Amino acid sequence: MVDVSDLVEFQRHLDGAHHIAITSHRSPDADAVGTSLALARYLRSTGKEVTCLLPDAPDEALDWMTGVNDIVLFDRDPGQAQEALHRADVLFALDYNGMGRLGPMKDAAESATGTWLMVDHHMGPEDFPTARVHDARCSSTAELLWGVIAGLGGKEAVDATTAGLLYAGMMTDTGSFRFNSVSAETHRVVAAMMDQGLNHTAVHEAIFGEQPMDRMKLHAFAVVERMEVYPEFQTAFVHLTAEDMERFHYRPGYTEGLVNKALGVSGVKVAVFAKQSSDRVKMSFRSVGQFSVRDFAEKHFDGGGHHNAAGGASKESIGVVMARLRGLLPEIAAGITAAEEADA
Ligand code: 5GP
Ligand code: MN
Repeated sequence: MVDVSDLVEFQRHLDGAHHIAITSHRSPDADAVGTSLALARYLRSTGKEVTCLLPDAPDEALDWMTGVNDIVLFDRDPGQAQEALHRADVLFALDYNGMGRLGPMKDAAESATGTWLMVDHHMGPEDFPTARVHDARCSSTAELLWGVIAGLGGKEAVDATTAGLLYAGMMTDTGSFRFNSVSAETHRVVAAMMDQGLNHTAVHEAIFGEQPMDRMKLHAFAVVERMEVYPEFQTAFVHLTAEDMERFHYRPGYTEGLVNKALGVSGVKVAVFAKQSSDRVKMSFRSVGQFSVRDFAEKHFDGGGHHNAAGGASKESIGVVMARLRGLLPEIAAGITAAEEADA
């Protein structure tokens, strides 16, 4: 939920601002991109000049999002990105709360001189923003951002397009409204957006409706050839090498959802997906129940996120990472048992 005193601060900083930069995290997902574009639409409706910036490109699965092609990508256009960051009177940090999540854009963001405002739902926010709307219990940044826009008096400026952008973030971060993090407020926000003309079916179709054959084959290959299930440790791993991804003509977004296939195996309580990318191995961690994958990711792989969904990375090779994960199986199993006993 959004605290009114935080909004008073937001309003004060926005009142004096002309140029606004909206930033979100590396490997941006639907919550990151949807909230950036939705906030930009709202702020432009109030007469502000707004630039959206991301460290790197979103998945092609988000190509349908109105305005996505106008986002300045730091890895493609560092000069333009630097200029927008430095010109901004106010900078928004959406869906992340540590500068490290900006990857290659971190240094440029840190040298910006405007006022930082944050809207985020990850645990453990850093203190770089002057004001923030932060709730780690909230299921998505999009849900919080609806509260921000409505609280600033902008509810009527949310048209069907803006509502669709927010709904995309809410739907994906909640696993289509099935995770524990979903609250009555989540559904109240959806209801309010439906009153503003939201077409939820169109958003679901755009994200989950169809997929390239290569992606489907990559998932099938990963499940058949690269999934390791350890029933005695209630854990499953899936990994993809650079060659695997080349074989199926990998495009950004192709591996989205793979970690949930591992988590969906009967008896599995912790799942890890690891893939080789250009300069690192990127991992997704998921759990059901009390085992905190956030703590695990933070301890072993310089990561973070949420209790049941987290991420991390390593500069080691995929082979070394997988060997390290297998070595951690007893620790994971002990962690699951301890968490269950604490819960009992
Ligand atoms: P995903 O596995 O979907 O990429 O990420 C799951 C969650 O963990 C998301 O909330 C995401 O923001 C967070 N996350 C992913 N990668 C990292 C990382 O490297 N560091 C931190 N702190 N959080 C991450
Ligand atoms: Mn999010």
